Amino acid sequence: MRSTDDGADAVVIGAGPNGLVAANMLADAGWDVVVLEASVTPGGGVSSSNFLGEGFVADVCSAFYPLAAASPVISSLNLEEYGLEWTHSAAVLAHPVPDGRVAVLNRQVEATIEGLDRFAPDDGAAWRRLYELFEQVLDPLRAALFTPFPPLRAAAKLAGALGAGGLLRFARLATLPVRRLAQEEFRGQAGPLLLAGCAMHADLSPESAGSSAFGWLLAMVGQHYGFPVPKGGAGELTGALTRRLEARGGRVVCNAPVTAVQVQRRRATAVTVVGQGVIRARRAVLADVAATQL
Ligand SMILES: Cc1cc2nc3c(=O)[nH]c(=O)nc-3n(C[C@H](O)[C@H](O)[C@H](O)COP(=O)(O)OP(=O)(O)OC[C@H]3O[C@@H](n4cnc5c(N)ncnc54)[C@H](O)[C@@H]3O)c2cc1C
Repeated sequence: MRSTDDGADAVVIGAGPNGLVAANMLADAGWDVVVLEASVTPGGGVSSSNFLGEGFVADVCSAFYPLAAASPVISSLNLEEYGLEWTHSAAVLAHPVPDGRVAVLNRQVEATIEGLDRFAPDDGAAWRRLYELFEQVLDPLRAALFTPFPPLRAAAKLAGALGAGGLLRFARLATLPVRRLAQEEFRGQAGPLLLAGCAMHADLSPESAGSSAFGWLLAMVGQHYGFPVPKGGAGELTGALTRRLEARGGRVVCNAPVTAVQVQRRRATAVTVVGQGVIRARRAVLADVAATQL
């Protein structure tokens, strides 16, 4: 169904990846969807630009997408049919150390383990333990990450997978500062660097409580799925989401900042857009913006 001047079934505010995924899912369900984006291009934190010069594609914010690779929702969209091509490097990430050696998270777990053992015997075994724990909790973890909040059923499955003792150990691992976890698990430099670098990607210091959860999760997701990047840059992920939506009659309108959501009888019924007046939402308004901004 195509949008008319009479509005749309759903108005999505913001063409970031979450807004575009939601719009695609509603379009799949037969809804007529319009996505209103304040910027000149869609994508939000998932976009590319040639600001470095002609012939260079630079990702403006995000660049690698292990969680997209892990997401059953993204997989179900079959974005490859809309031009998305994932690509991987053999080494997921690497940290050089001053003596010239390099700590490498390799796509092959055995290669990562071998590399860690070169820094300190048994550090490979520590990595294997951390990875085996990840494999043990992968299914409930995916369910917790990719189903609506609060993930109660997933938490129950996690408890079932680990047992009482395992759950306590997991809770401890998740709340430690990553520096402490690394000191407990590794004797060489490489393991701590791999974990701490991933924790710091979440803007957490190695001393922050809970930084081990982010460090462990991102490192293990990297070990399991790699850090895939879209061929041609992050903007290609947004491009595929947009093309898929348009193939189902949805529209993405850029240069369309929404300034207000109109509410009647406790229902969001329309939005006000700079330069375009009021756009009616027959069934729903979805806001892909920060809660404070909403
Ligand atoms: C520097 C940086 C690096 C990152 N690196 C990674 C990475 O490598 N891998 C990864 O997976 N994640 C990364 N992230 C996180 C990732 O970018 C975000 O998780 C993702 O962009 C969130 O998507 P979203 O759709 O929720 O919001 P956004 O991407 O923020 O999209 C929101 C959209 O809404 C629009 N909007 C806002 N207000 C209005 C309005 N009033 N009217 C209309 N439109 C509006 C915005 O212009 C924007 O396009 C990174 C983030 C940053 C900042």
